[in-house]
Amino acid sequence: MKGITRKFLRINLSNGKIGEEAIPEQVETDFIGGRGFGIHYLYRELAPKTDPLGEHNKMIFVAGPLAGTNAQAVSRWMVCTKSPLTGAFARSVAGADFGAWIKFAGYEFILIEGKAERPVYIHLTRDACQIEPADELWGKDTVITQEWLSQRHGLNTRVACIGPGGENLVKYAAIVTNRRTASRCGVGAVMGSKNLKAIAINAERNLQLHDPEGYKQLVKQQIQMMMANKGFQYHKEMGTTGNPENTSELGIFPTRNFRYGRLDDYEKLAGEEYLKRRIGDFGCYSCAARCGKVHRVTKGPYAGAHSEGPEYESIWAFSGPIENSYLEATIAADQLCDDLGIDTISTGNTIGFAYELYEKGLLTKKDTDGLELKYGNHKAMVALVGKIARREGIGDLLAEGTMRVAAKIGKGAEAFAINAKGLELPAYEPRGAKSLGFNYATSNIGGSHGYGYAPQEVFGAPFPRKVDRFAEEENADIVVFNQNNGAVGEVGIVCVFARGWFPQLYDKLLIAATGIDKIGERGYLPRVGERIVNLERAFIVREGFGRKQDTLPQRMLSEPLHTRGSPGEGQMIRNLDKFLDRYYEIRGWTPQGIPSPEKLKELGLGYVVKDMAQSQNAKAI
Ligand code: SF4
Repeated sequence: MKGITRKFLRINLSNGKIGEEAIPEQVETDFIGGRGFGIHYLYRELAPKTDPLGEHNKMIFVAGPLAGTNAQAVSRWMVCTKSPLTGAFARSVAGADFGAWIKFAGYEFILIEGKAERPVYIHLTRDACQIEPADELWGKDTVITQEWLSQRHGLNTRVACIGPGGENLVKYAAIVTNRRTASRCGVGAVMGSKNLKAIAINAERNLQLHDPEGYKQLVKQQIQMMMANKGFQYHKEMGTTGNPENTSELGIFPTRNFRYGRLDDYEKLAGEEYLKRRIGDFGCYSCAARCGKVHRVTKGPYAGAHSEGPEYESIWAFSGPIENSYLEATIAADQLCDDLGIDTISTGNTIGFAYELYEKGLLTKKDTDGLELKYGNHKAMVALVGKIARREGIGDLLAEGTMRVAAKIGKGAEAFAINAKGLELPAYEPRGAKSLGFNYATSNIGGSHGYGYAPQEVFGAPFPRKVDRFAEEENADIVVFNQNNGAVGEVGIVCVFARGWFPQLYDKLLIAATGIDKIGERGYLPRVGERIVNLERAFIVREGFGRKQDTLPQRMLSEPLHTRGSPGEGQMIRNLDKFLDRYYEIRGWTPQGIPSPEKLKELGLGYVVKDMAQSQNAKAI
């Protein structure tokens, strides 16, 4: 920011050293903020092959340059680290207020390094930062942890914490703030490995913007624009609970561990059904959408269960994989995941995998602690959620995620493990939404929809062009566009749902906040997005990833999809190699998927060239 020093806080848990550091102007200009800062510092500071759960891994809790302001839907935050689930780069995004509070404390991000000897939490205010003992919090769930810290430090405290899942190093443990989570890639396990139970921030709103008056005017325009947007109004009303009907009708609601593209009775999970159980709304800091819909179960085996959600991915995670349409079970399982601090997507996907192993006789009742893993058995599913978080019985194995479970069981189990680079696939069937599928294959964090979401395929958005969702290498440009565009959105960090509500204002808000005028130049922001994706790629190449790991589960490449009457029957991924050739060519990468020296220099990443040359023959861990 012109005339304003943007800084971050470095906290070393091994030696207790805490200090502020300024962010150099060149880094601000090249990366702007958010995910850009995350990968810049992680690439610079993390030695290749660092153990993700060892003392030397680092975690960056980063907000965007717009966080904490009155602008709408821009106060999300993320964690960047090396993933214990994939061994690749991890970026995991969350909502609620914590991003705003990072900024109120005076920082762009908090960088955690080292490992505490005993459980601790960090207490941060505008004037001080302390590392406090957390022995009495260890073992507590995320609700009790947050209540305890709020009672101790006051109602103006915002907390990001782990539950038993993170403490037990579940490979896909989440970090929880209020009822929102940074859930993907096992970031909660990294926190657990450092004996860090929570970060609690107490701070009053206190922001510095480059052009406060100009920013205020832009916010007025933004709110008017949002209110007039039909997508915003629908999202405000329904959140994402209407999506299961949409994706079922498209034949891309993965069912029975990704064998079918829709549930037979998906109407039982319709948005209207969730509406009947709704008891309130929840929103992130400064967002009028309040799209978190809170539901309560009033009768049946899960009476009393309630969750902020489930949102679309979690509705799917606890229905599709095990072919369950008992809605109440999705609420109960979602609540348990949030309380215990594990990722709903990886949890549901891994449970679906276990059900298929049981069906094929690769797991028996003896292995499952007596649970009968038959499709539709939601009680066993809910029981497994608790076992995974606590690593009890079969849960200890399933806590390792599908890739490691398959390797341990052997006997062909790998054929049923639905992940990309070890990250479990989410709620969109790759054979029926192929740009999204190829995004899973090439994403630098593994099987994530958020890394390069394809609204062209799911909602028919004709931007930057119309897309045939069954086309393959012909859509390589769309995959590149969506991934770069995703990175642009996450320098902000603007909510993924809100990106279409005020597209004309995003760059203007960034300029008014930071004073980086170049942002207004044509092509500047897309170039920043491309720079981020390339640096993330370089990070994972340095870890040994390359073309071989840019792939999809065997099922997608060899078995036709069945859609039970929806479009897409018989679809498969037929030309992964042709797609990769085209994708790498557009990206300016070698045929092995390594960023070329020319591309790196063009993006101002010349310092990476030497690392890429040294990494050519490395093997992925
Ligand atoms: S749209 Fe929903 S998820 Fe996004 S910022 Fe608003 S409340 Fe949060």
